[in-house]
Formats: sequence, C-alpha cells, structure tokens
Amino acid sequence: MIPFHHPSPNFGPRSAGPVDMLVIHYTGMPDAAAALARLCDPAAEVSAHYLIEEDGRVLALVDEAARAWHAGASFWRGETDVNARSIGIELVNPGHEFGYRAFPEAQIAALVELVHDILGRHAIPARNVVGHSDVAPTRKQDPGEMFPWKELAETHGIGLWPCGEPSGLPPEHVILAGLAHVGYDIWDPKAAVTAFQRHFRPWKVDGHPDAETMGRLKALLRVLR
Ligand SMILES: [Zn+2]
Repeated sequence: MIPFHHPSPNFGPRSAGPVDMLVIHYTGMPDAAAALARLCDPAAEVSAHYLIEEDGRVLALVDEAARAWHAGASFWRGETDVNARSIGIELVNPGHEFGYRAFPEAQIAALVELVHDILGRHAIPARNVVGHSDVAPTRKQDPGEMFPWKELAETHGIGLWPCGEPSGLPPEHVILAGLAHVGYDIWDPKAAVTAFQRHFRPWKVDGHPDAETMGRLKALLRVLR
C-alpha cells in the first residue's frame, strides 16, 4: 500500500525507547475534511501518523520516525509518554458526539493492510495494539464499541481477543490488579472497567465488573502470562 502524503506540521522528535505501541482512534469530527484540517493545523497541536477515510483512502501525515501528537495525557503499562512509543492511526468517523456509526468494510480493510505493514517495521506486541480509550480511560471513548477488535484479532491476527467463560466476582482489589496487569491506569476504577469493556466486551459497556467481564479479563490475563 502506498499512502497519499499529506504532511502535518504537528510532530516532534521521539525520545528514547523503541516504537512498541499502536493506538487506534476515531476522528470525532463531523466530516473527513474537518478532521484533516484540524490534524494539520499548527494551532490545534494534534496529529497522527495516519488518517484513514471511510472509503479506505490512507493519508500519511507524520513520518513514523517522528513523535505525533495523538494520545495526549495517557498511560499504558507504566508508560505515560505514549506518543513517544507509539504509532497513531485516526479513522474518520463522526464519533459519539456527531453521530457514531459503524466503520465501513473498505476502511477496515485499509486499516488491516496498513497495520500489517507497520507490524513488519516495528516490534509491537499484540497486547500493545490498543484504542485511545484504553490509554486514556477517563477522557476518551474512541475508537468506541463499534470498532471490530474481534475481527482484527480472529481474522487478521492483529491485537488480542480472549474468550472466557463467565466467572465469579473476586474482590475489587483483585479485579483492579488484573486490569493494571493488562496495562490500564486504575486510578479511576469505574473508568478502567468501562475502558476494558469497550475493547473486550463491547456489547455491554456499563462500568460494572459482572461475571462476563471477569471471565474475559481472566482469559486475557491467561494469554498474557
Ligand atoms: Zn483519539
């Protein structure tokens, strides 16, 4: 795949450390033109490495060697400078604010091809393929519960999709220790549970750690061990 180059001025140097994370976003803007304009506006001070339109067109905004500004205040597995360690991909979608809708097949097909390219260039473990809401659970909902994490993992080998039987509820501190082991910031417990559900149990995102949520968390922890 050869992306269309549309450079954004919004980037800086990467600090030490390898690129070992991939963060997926939705744009959350009314349309693609507005999103592209914002991602290239010096005053907005935001960007991503790639933007994928709903028809599957891929725009390269920031070189992978540079640090794009997509994650903001964030945390994953102890790392707070997620931008320094990650590649950021924005998917055009109006998002929860402007009419959240399913990601078209062409857009996901382009994403899969792009991610396979990226995974060929950088050693990014499956557990570090995350959504913006995973790394900023109190602030962000993107790419949201309609993002096809299951399809990406099961059909394309991208990320993780653990399947576990519903499980009894352990005490809260055990649940939080599990979420922390996955990588979540557990400072706000309900936000952490909500973020986990949005990614791994997206048909019911309510912040309550029920038996199904626990079963899926336990299954994920088994894979990570
Ligand atoms: Zn985002």
